[in-house]
Amino acid sequence: MERKEYDVIIVGTGAAGLFTAISFPVNYKILMITKDTIENSDSYLAQGGISTLLRADDYNAYYEDTMKAGHFENRPESVEKMIRSSNGIIQQLIKVGVDFDKNEAGQLDYTREGGHSTYRILHHQDVTGKEIVSKLLTKVRTCKNITILENTTMVDIVAKDNECQGIVMKDFNGISACYGKSIILATGGIGGVFKNSTNFPHISGDSFAIALRHKIKLENIDYIQIHPTVLYSKKKGRRFLISESVRGEGAVLLNEDKNRFVDELQPRDVVTEAISKEMKKYNTDHVYLCLKNISKKEILSHFPNIYKRCLEEGYDATKDLIPVTPAQHYLMGGIKVNTIGETSMSHLFAVGETACNGVHGANRLASNSLLESLVFGQNTAQNICKNQVDTKIVVSEVQIKDYNDIEKWQQENVKILLNEIKRRDVKFYDKWCNA
Ligand SMILES: Cc1cc2nc3c(=O)[nH]c(=O)nc-3n(C[C@H](O)[C@H](O)[C@H](O)COP(=O)(O)OP(=O)(O)OC[C@H]3O[C@@H](n4cnc5c(N)ncnc54)[C@H](O)[C@@H]3O)c2cc1C
Repeated sequence: MERKEYDVIIVGTGAAGLFTAISFPVNYKILMITKDTIENSDSYLAQGGISTLLRADDYNAYYEDTMKAGHFENRPESVEKMIRSSNGIIQQLIKVGVDFDKNEAGQLDYTREGGHSTYRILHHQDVTGKEIVSKLLTKVRTCKNITILENTTMVDIVAKDNECQGIVMKDFNGISACYGKSIILATGGIGGVFKNSTNFPHISGDSFAIALRHKIKLENIDYIQIHPTVLYSKKKGRRFLISESVRGEGAVLLNEDKNRFVDELQPRDVVTEAISKEMKKYNTDHVYLCLKNISKKEILSHFPNIYKRCLEEGYDATKDLIPVTPAQHYLMGGIKVNTIGETSMSHLFAVGETACNGVHGANRLASNSLLESLVFGQNTAQNICKNQVDTKIVVSEVQIKDYNDIEKWQQENVKILLNEIKRRDVKFYDKWCNA
């Protein structure tokens, strides 16, 4: 059988994977794979928006907000790179057709979220991720050098002597291997291993289990973000997020006695903790979000998706209190990388939520994730282009028989990951995420 070889293999078609792919010159032969359909990425679900440097004189405040939310555990060089690159990234998004909302004067409309000291978040209604990902996809589809395979799962990497040479993947036809000069992991976070998560179930941290198997360095794999406000529901399945920008526009949190109990615009971990205390105090499994400070016009124009979903669950957000509760949302840790996406294994890179470049520290500031995925995705691509010039593809033939019991292999992956997370003292893990 003909051996499949590429310049670059990108695993994952979320914002990080797509933006990384279009940041390569068109003479790079690129393969992208995704475990599900292309649209089913957490990037597509992003609601609130993408943060950006408002004006040059906002730099110190934005830097401080990011560091403060992250408990000053952030890597300063990553924070600086992200913020300084933000305006350029927004311009590139606008160039590929992303339509950010504008105010009545026709200027970009900035919103605010918890932990931000000012309004600096661009959005497209409350479906910013869908807008960004669909425009990036349109662009990718025009690139003849990029092949995308859907419903194709990376089950392992091909590696020898700490050098990555390719991936082992599973599709409807079975198991096969393909090889590349550079392999980029853009598989998102770990929400799929939790019962209560805003993430798609198939985004289940496969890269981390594979990294553990190959002794690739991870960092802060226990830094799991619990979002304070998902729509409370007794139904099983993915939790529906009520974006922080709703609080940014004036919504308040109320306890069982209908009293406020926290400054709603504190960083996520602080608000989650406060909600948790109230729920304990009143022995309830939710608190309430009250949108009465937001005009009906603003709710319908800025938050149509959230409004619709609440209605489906029986709540009219323009009148009713919305029951909300915390759930797993994001992973600040991941595969340890530097600002050019390099992992501890040569020829293997990681971008987006899979990577830990330290930009979020111990707790991510709202709307910094899409931005980070794009900034460091592009930076990784540009650096691979500089360094890959003389790289040859080295091939260690994969023994497909090793993966014959693929179900077992994948179940073991989940176990390996959970053991690693649970080995550490994960705050809220059992209480909020696996209830
Ligand atoms: C409901 C929700 C709302 C959010 N809102 C915001 C927001 O407003 N602003 C913001 O900045 N961030 C937001 N986030 C976070 C943000 O969307 C994500 O952190 C970010 O988009 C991650 O992008 P990514 O490309 O790294 O991963 P993802 O978008 O999660 O994509 C991962 C990709 O990897 C693929 N994949 C996974 N495992 C495998 C495998 N083994 N083999 C092959 N493919 C695989 C998946 O199919 C998918 O294509 C939100 C997240 C959620 C869940």
